[in-house]
Amino acid sequence: MAKTIPVPRGTRDLLPEETPAWDRVEGVARDLSRRYALERIEIPLFERVELFARGLGESSDAVEKEMFRVAGAKGSEEEAAPWALRPEPTAGIVRAFIEHGMHVRPGPLRLTLIGPMFRYDRPQAGRFRQFSQWDVEVIGDAGPAVDAELIELGHRFYAEVGLTDVVARVNSIGDAECRPAYRDALIGYFSAHEDRLSEDSRRRLRVNPLRVLDDKELPADLAADAPRGIDHLCNACREHFEAVRAMLDALGVRYELDHRLVRGLDYYTRTAFEFYVAGREGQQQALGGGGRYDGLVELLGGRPTPGIGFGLGLDRTILAMEEQGVVLPARPPLVAIVGSGDDHARRLRVAADLREAGVAVRPDGSSRKLGKQLESAAKAGARWAVIVDEGETVALKDLSSGEQQDALAIETVVAAVSG
Ligand code: AMP
Repeated sequence: MAKTIPVPRGTRDLLPEETPAWDRVEGVARDLSRRYALERIEIPLFERVELFARGLGESSDAVEKEMFRVAGAKGSEEEAAPWALRPEPTAGIVRAFIEHGMHVRPGPLRLTLIGPMFRYDRPQAGRFRQFSQWDVEVIGDAGPAVDAELIELGHRFYAEVGLTDVVARVNSIGDAECRPAYRDALIGYFSAHEDRLSEDSRRRLRVNPLRVLDDKELPADLAADAPRGIDHLCNACREHFEAVRAMLDALGVRYELDHRLVRGLDYYTRTAFEFYVAGREGQQQALGGGGRYDGLVELLGGRPTPGIGFGLGLDRTILAMEEQGVVLPARPPLVAIVGSGDDHARRLRVAADLREAGVAVRPDGSSRKLGKQLESAAKAGARWAVIVDEGETVALKDLSSGEQQDALAIETVVAAVSG
C-alpha cells in the first residue's frame, strides 16, 4: 500500500458529524448580519505582505512570527512573492475600501465576512494554523454608539449560538493624542523592572510597550501596578469611553474593565474589547475580539476615516459550545426511498417529486433486500421510508414506530412528511 499523506499540521478536516455545529454558528452570524444591516464583502485569501506589515505593525505577532507566506509559481516573476495568507481580514477590507473609492458611498459602511484566516503559529488547544472568523467592520463612524452596538452584537452572537456566561472585557487605549504619554509611562515603569520581563517583552519594550501588558509571562504584581490606559486618556478619549460604557450599561451587556487588554495589533485606537467565557480569561482563550482603528485607513493610503470592527473565532466558539454541552437544533427530517427489484428510475422520480416539495431525500441505489434497505435507512437517521414498487402508489413507513400505510398517492406522502 502507498504511504498515506496526513493533513498539514495545525489544520483540521471537519467531518460530517462536526459540520452541523458550523452550520449553526455561521447561520446565526448570517442572520445577525441581516438584522444588524451588515453587507457581505469578500476579499482574497492572500495579500501583499506589505499590507499586513503596514496595517498590523512590524512588531505584531501576526507579522513578526506568524506570517504564512505564499510563493508564486517556479520561474515566475512572483517566485519569491511578497505575499501572505491573510492572518485577519481588517487590513484587506480597508485596502478594498480605498481601492474602490468606497468613501463616496453613503456611509457609514457596515461590512461583514465569514472565512478562514491563517497564522503560522505553534499549534495547540484552540490554536490552529487555519481557523475561521466571523468578521464585522463599520467604516466611517466615529462612535461612540457604534462601539456599544458592536460589543452588544458580539455578546448577542454568543447568546444566540447557545453559550452562557460570555463576558466582554473592554478597555480604551487612547489615540494619537494621548497614547504617546501612556507609552512613555509604560516604558518608564517597565524599564525599572526590565530584569523581570520575558525576552519578548524586553525586545518590545521600546517599540511597542503596550504589548508588554498582554505578555502572558508578565509577573502578576508587575501587571497589577502597571500604569493604566484609562488614567492617561485625553478628554476626547475619556468622554468617548465613558459614553461607550454608559450605553453598554443601558443595553444590559455584561462587561468588565481590563487594563491589560491592549490587542496585538498596532492600528487600534480607543475602544478595545474581547469576549471570554467567564472564568476563562487569558490570552489563549479569547473567543473573539475587536476594536476601533481610527488611524488605519490613512495609514494604508486613504483619507482619514474612522473605523471599528471585530473578529469572532468560530473554532473556539464551537469548542466552547461542546464544553457547555450546547444542544444543536434538530435537523429537518430525512426521508429514505427504498424499493424492491430494479425500480431505480421510479425511486428517483419519487425522490424528485418529494424534493420539489422541499423534503430532504436519500434514495437507496441498491437492489438489496427490502429489509436491508430499511435497516440502512434507519442507520442513516431517516425518519420515514417511502417504499416504491411497480404500481403508481407507494407505501410510507414510519421508521421509529414501524407503522406502515400502503397505497398512498405521492401528494399524500408529501403532506404527511412535511407536516
Ligand atoms: P485576534 O485578531 O488575534 O484578536 O483574533 C480574534 C479571534 O480569532 C480570537 O479571539 C480567536 O477566537 C480567533 N483566533 C485567533 N488566532 C487563532 C488561532 N491561531 N486559532 C484559532 N482561533 C484563533
